Amino acid sequence: MISVQDALAHLFALCTPLDRETVPLRAASGRVLAETAMARLVQPPFDASAMDGYAVRDGDTVEGAAFKVIGESAAGHGFSGTVSQGTAVRIFTGAPVPTGADRVIIQEDVSRAGDRITLTCTPSDNRNIRPAGNDFGPTDGLSAPRRLSPQDVALLAAMNHAEVSVGRRPVVAIISTGDELVLPGETPGPSQIISSNAFGLAAMVEQAGGIARMLPIAPDDMTLLRATFEMAMEADVIVSIGGASVGDHDLVGKVVEELGMERAFYKVAMRPGKPLMAGRLGDTVMLGLPGNPVSAMITARLFMLPVLDALQGLPPQPAPRQNAVLLQPVSENGPREHYMRAVLTAEGVQPFARQDSSLLSILSNANALLVRPPHDPAREAGETVDVIRL
Ligand code: AMP
Ligand code: MG
Repeated sequence: MISVQDALAHLFALCTPLDRETVPLRAASGRVLAETAMARLVQPPFDASAMDGYAVRDGDTVEGAAFKVIGESAAGHGFSGTVSQGTAVRIFTGAPVPTGADRVIIQEDVSRAGDRITLTCTPSDNRNIRPAGNDFGPTDGLSAPRRLSPQDVALLAAMNHAEVSVGRRPVVAIISTGDELVLPGETPGPSQIISSNAFGLAAMVEQAGGIARMLPIAPDDMTLLRATFEMAMEADVIVSIGGASVGDHDLVGKVVEELGMERAFYKVAMRPGKPLMAGRLGDTVMLGLPGNPVSAMITARLFMLPVLDALQGLPPQPAPRQNAVLLQPVSENGPREHYMRAVLTAEGVQPFARQDSSLLSILSNANALLVRPPHDPAREAGETVDVIRL
């Protein structure tokens, strides 16, 4: 049995980042930027007004000062003349500040009669101008690698990128194994259950930028299971669910061995999820997850997601942890790292009383995992612990 940390190191050693591809910006959200994208222009491209008001010369602005309005500068339609002493240009937010002007007086601070305005107060120190390049210029950019958020996409668009270079989406083949499994929507027989894990994992793959391919459920039969794995060999990652321990019906290990897998590890010192295997099948990373629904989802969170990140070009790193205050005492932990289903709030972290690895209803209500290191002593409420957000 190896530690979670060592298992991850083995897994990362199996991962080579996939090729890059160029995609239109509309398809870039959630993808991993592969090449640093530098700004292709200056933003704003000119000194722009931050308010609706009047552009004037800064020195002229005392209460009672009067100006003649000589024109207008609106967004998209600048004023081509020059502002001189005693003149003003009507200006709107985002419009270019005309030559000669270096302050915008907000419209609330003036009274207007025909083409005359008078300052009704001494305006604040704010000149209400966004200088050219205030947001970004040619030396600014978005550095790769980085998973692109909607905010990043907006920035890339503003920087005038119509397309970007991103890591290819990893294709993940998901194989459920077990004679007891049927698909959601079917009517289970007397000793059958629904294959839930494959659906949770496919959703997780897609959220992480991958493409999930759900294969037909493989029964507990060497020939059929092998045929299913053979169908999956084109994928970048194969994730199997169940059949990974050492029972008579646990055939995944035997099948992948027959197919020539170099096994990186087989058991991990963690709870839930001890029977967890990984290796390389040709060019494909194989991850054999345990069958229990919560174990499958948690091991996928801890191992599959970092693998998908690494394949897309992000630096290999474990699921990020943060500190939280423990809200109730917990007893001593055993030799395996325990990932307790918990609720994290501003006050702290509260583990659920029921931690059985078959309870999807508990997992669905959890928003964090409370991490208990191997042999962690009993902890009191108020102590600081590690959590991983779900
Ligand atoms: P196994 O590792 O095959 O012994 O499976 C452990 C437990 O997980 C058993 O109760 C299985 O019925 C259950 N299980 C296995 N695969 C799935 C699946 N795809 N969806 C839901 N439960 C599963
Ligand atoms: Mg099974």
